[in-house]
Amino acid sequence: PETITVQELAARMSMRAVDLVKELMKEGQMVTANATLDADTAQLVAEDLGHSVKRVSEADVEEGLEGAADKPEDMKPRPPVVTIMGHVDHGKTSLLDAMRQTDIVAGEAGGITQHIGAYQVDLGDNRKITFLDTPGHAAFTQMRSRGAQVTDIIILVVAADDSIMPQTEEAISHAKAAGVPIIVAINKVDKPDADPNKVRTDLLQHEIQVESMGGDVQDVEVSALKKMNLDALQDAILLQAELLELKANPDRPAEGAVVEARLDKGRGAVATFLVERGTLHRGDILVVGSEWGKVRAMHDDKGQQVKEAGPAYPVEVLGLDGVPEPGDKFNVVESEARAREVAEFRKRQRRDKAAAQTSGTSLEQMMAQL
Ligand code: GDP
Ligand code: MG
Repeated sequence: PETITVQELAARMSMRAVDLVKELMKEGQMVTANATLDADTAQLVAEDLGHSVKRVSEADVEEGLEGAADKPEDMKPRPPVVTIMGHVDHGKTSLLDAMRQTDIVAGEAGGITQHIGAYQVDLGDNRKITFLDTPGHAAFTQMRSRGAQVTDIIILVVAADDSIMPQTEEAISHAKAAGVPIIVAINKVDKPDADPNKVRTDLLQHEIQVESMGGDVQDVEVSALKKMNLDALQDAILLQAELLELKANPDRPAEGAVVEARLDKGRGAVATFLVERGTLHRGDILVVGSEWGKVRAMHDDKGQQVKEAGPAYPVEVLGLDGVPEPGDKFNVVESEARAREVAEFRKRQRRDKAAAQTSGTSLEQMMAQL
């Protein structure tokens, strides 16, 4: 049901919450500023106070934002988006760094590595992989809790000298809950006490059956330190991607999700976007969560300015009016007016939700406010 807090209703009528509380009391409604009113009551009160009311529902505002479904013939293969998970010190960061160095164009472009929360490696022959470089289960869960599921494949890193540990188990349950396929990277095989087979056997206890154990989960022995067998891991990722038939329509207004966002002293709000479908262009107007903006500039993980970004290509975007949250969705819209309308509506919604959670002010507190 539609509701609004007394506070918010007061704000929209440009009056003080205490004055509105008094008005409501005159009508026999004993409420506090944090109380929520149903839409009918709110409308009556507002009209009594001489305001005209236009009720806008969530459905009205969000209408058409997502755009039509794509036709099968417009779908083109896109790179997989990969998240690396595993126990602390098992080599997630080392593996991410090692993978990054396999990019064939990184050196040529003369760019400088930028940590923007995600990067893409180009392996040549149209083989590309996108990595989210915030390993860590918290980031993954936070994004999922906001409705964003950008990860296609999880690389589960397990150190061959340590085998399954608590955070390995945690990663397995995250992957299972999200329904994301796992590839096991058995790391640190260069170490004298490495025992890859123990890892494979231990995984059975967690219902992960790797191929050599008769299952269908791919496993690859690697050494992030010695950069051993990284190509085999990449082949495994690309094979899994093929099985998933990852495709997107690049020829439509962009939509996707925020990977990372922060406030930069000089540049204002900065956010890394991962386009899920369509192509994002410089100059595009968009809503992202409860913020909006116009893409003023974009650059990739090599620090190169880019004019457009297609599916699974991570870019850092400048030009937003505020800092969105990781996992927030973005949609390109046709006008600033539309972007502002949606952003403001969502801001109010978030405020109302927050207020509803903290409501429950006692009568004493209410009297004190008066
Ligand atoms: P994270 O906590 O999972 O990100 O792990 P790190 O990447 O920080 O690695 C933890 C430690 O293990 C560091 O000292 C790395 O140098 C070391 N390490 C990572 N990969 C390998 C490997 O393949 N072989 C060996 N011998 N050490 C490794
Ligand atoms: Mg690390």
